[in-house]
Amino acid sequence: MVTPKTRATPLKLSDSVELLTGVGVRVAAQLARLSLLSIGDLLWHLPVRYENRGQIMPLGAYLLGQSVLVQVTISESKPLMRGKARQVAQGFDASGDITLWQFGRFGPTLQTGQTYLLFGEVREGAHGLEMAQPELMSSAQLEAILPIYPSTEGLGQNKLRLLVAQALNVALGDLDELLPSALRQREGWPSLLVALQRIHAPTLSAGLPQRDEAAYVRLIVEELLAHMLALRLKRHEFMQTQAPRFYQQSTLYQTLLSQLAFAPTGAQARVLREIQADLARGAPMLRLVQGDVGSGKTLVAAGAALSAIEHGYQVALMAPTALLAEQHQRNFTQWFAPLGVSVQLLSGQQTAAERRAGLAALADGQAQLVIGTHALFQEQVVFAQLGLVIVDEQHRFGVHQRLALSDKGASPERATHRPHQLVMTATPIPRTLAMSAYADLDVSIIDELPPGRAPITTALVRADRREQLIERISAVCAQGRQAYWVCPLVEDSERIEAQAAESTAEYLRESLPHLRIGLVHGRLSAAEKNAEMARFKAHELDLLVATTVIEVGVDVPNASLMLIENADRMGLAQLHQLRGRVGRGSVASFCVLLFDEPISDKARARLQLMRETQDGFKLAEADLAQRGPGEILGTRQTGLAKLKVADLVLDEPWLEHARALADELIAVQSPNIPALLRRWIGAAQHYGQV
Ligand code: ADP
Ligand code: MG
Repeated sequence: MVTPKTRATPLKLSDSVELLTGVGVRVAAQLARLSLLSIGDLLWHLPVRYENRGQIMPLGAYLLGQSVLVQVTISESKPLMRGKARQVAQGFDASGDITLWQFGRFGPTLQTGQTYLLFGEVREGAHGLEMAQPELMSSAQLEAILPIYPSTEGLGQNKLRLLVAQALNVALGDLDELLPSALRQREGWPSLLVALQRIHAPTLSAGLPQRDEAAYVRLIVEELLAHMLALRLKRHEFMQTQAPRFYQQSTLYQTLLSQLAFAPTGAQARVLREIQADLARGAPMLRLVQGDVGSGKTLVAAGAALSAIEHGYQVALMAPTALLAEQHQRNFTQWFAPLGVSVQLLSGQQTAAERRAGLAALADGQAQLVIGTHALFQEQVVFAQLGLVIVDEQHRFGVHQRLALSDKGASPERATHRPHQLVMTATPIPRTLAMSAYADLDVSIIDELPPGRAPITTALVRADRREQLIERISAVCAQGRQAYWVCPLVEDSERIEAQAAESTAEYLRESLPHLRIGLVHGRLSAAEKNAEMARFKAHELDLLVATTVIEVGVDVPNASLMLIENADRMGLAQLHQLRGRVGRGSVASFCVLLFDEPISDKARARLQLMRETQDGFKLAEADLAQRGPGEILGTRQTGLAKLKVADLVLDEPWLEHARALADELIAVQSPNIPALLRRWIGAAQHYGQV
């Protein structure tokens, strides 16, 4: 018997779980493993399922797969020595029969002629229904519906139930209702307290709680709403500030187009018009451009940048890797130098003197376009007149990194001014998910690839057949084409990854002595990586052995063959990004996915889907269903990946509703907004600050 802890003041939900009865050091540590630190945390620790131990079910009902309480009379029972089974018995009730198995030394011995209350899972056996190892219940012991919680080793369900019950008790006196009652009435939602009681302590008469009933829905929507609020508020705040108006059609951009060998696609032109409208508005643009790999996002970015530059403002372009930043610098210099527009690179790899000169050019306004990695938002970087921030491959950055860069546009004298923001991503996430993960942004989609792209043929090949591929590489390179060989990702070890890449390169150099073979991996300096990439781009190399560092943005149209090792261990989004490195020119391209046997059914299905489709959206949807939103959005990307009760896949239908409710609460300036953010997001996150 545990003695209740006594306290002068009543417990609060914010108090530590250690103040609950029955929690000592050991249990507290177990709870901590489940991230249950405060009493309030227990309220959001929802059951994964329920057991109905209060209602006797007739054997004639449809019971397969369920754990149920039955009342059966034994017609026959015999001890067994076969296998591990100790006893098999036949039981019946008024509506059906069941076979009962007992294993091991424990459990009741069922006697012929007696009637028992038994609880267990009903399965399909060789001769009808069966129940293995039923629990014997006495009628005094019958409980109602029991919640089953996610737990951790050593922490029993009964213990968890007792603790949650105490938390519900504390909630009686200390739980704020944060949804306005008019809203709850309109939606038909119970109060938070009633909803939590229903979920944690359902009564028999109301039946098993379901995820789509009002109690669950209000909880799910409240959490989604809080996340939407955080982002929508940030947007709202931005929209109150001013941004320079770039209202003229840029003549620089027209000049650029006249110098290019191609014309923009319809989708590129449309998205640029959407951007142009934002730039002319006077409030900062907040726009996400989604476009599959190779859809030509860079040209759209160039068009936006030239608008700002023509109006006398500076543009910052942030790329996720030094490799990509330098590639952008080369491309943009090629495009912009003939226009008389200066392009400046700012990277961690520069010498102190180069960096000083770069910083000075930014501060005095000489540098019109600056390209860099996240080093761009370091403190010392000062702009003369920043008008537009472009973030490339957004999925590699966190929300707060993007926001930090936009803060650069504000100076003490112009505290109410912000630069425009253009965010580009190749992660083709489904539209509703995009609208919520990036609820602070407007979304444009480049849904068309430049013409003349030959499709990529994708093949699956067992890793032990790799010898056959050597010939293939040789043939492709003999035709004047180039190839990539992508080595496996080694989690948390750049060193092992680099070694693997080095030994692969060595093996390929021996097998293909007539080819010029290069190597890039994460252990090389950015300068070394770049030199190697530049040689590949200039066709001084035939084959590039690389780790997944080449995943993002690398553009070599002459490359037409890609081999990916251990493709079975990669996600679809990543494979799609990698494959997007080929098929950029007009020749037929090939992508070979190497896998190791044995391969799981799931992995095989993933690879087969890669073979069937090149549609990034289809692949992203499959990835979302299989691996969940955290993987797709990137873990640092958004708080949405760490939801307490909602699930972006299961609860997707509620996302738009939550977003609309968020705007509604902002419009009426609901006083509950700060508390909603605190409850669901916490004070720590940058985008949660209001
Ligand atoms: P991503 O959207 O993956 O960033 P890029 O901007 O790197 O794509 O463009 C991929 C390739 O397509 C580049 O070589 C680029 O010059 C070319 N490209 C872009 N737009 C067009 C177009 N309208 N017609 C033909 N080629 C284009
Ligand atoms: Mg790109």
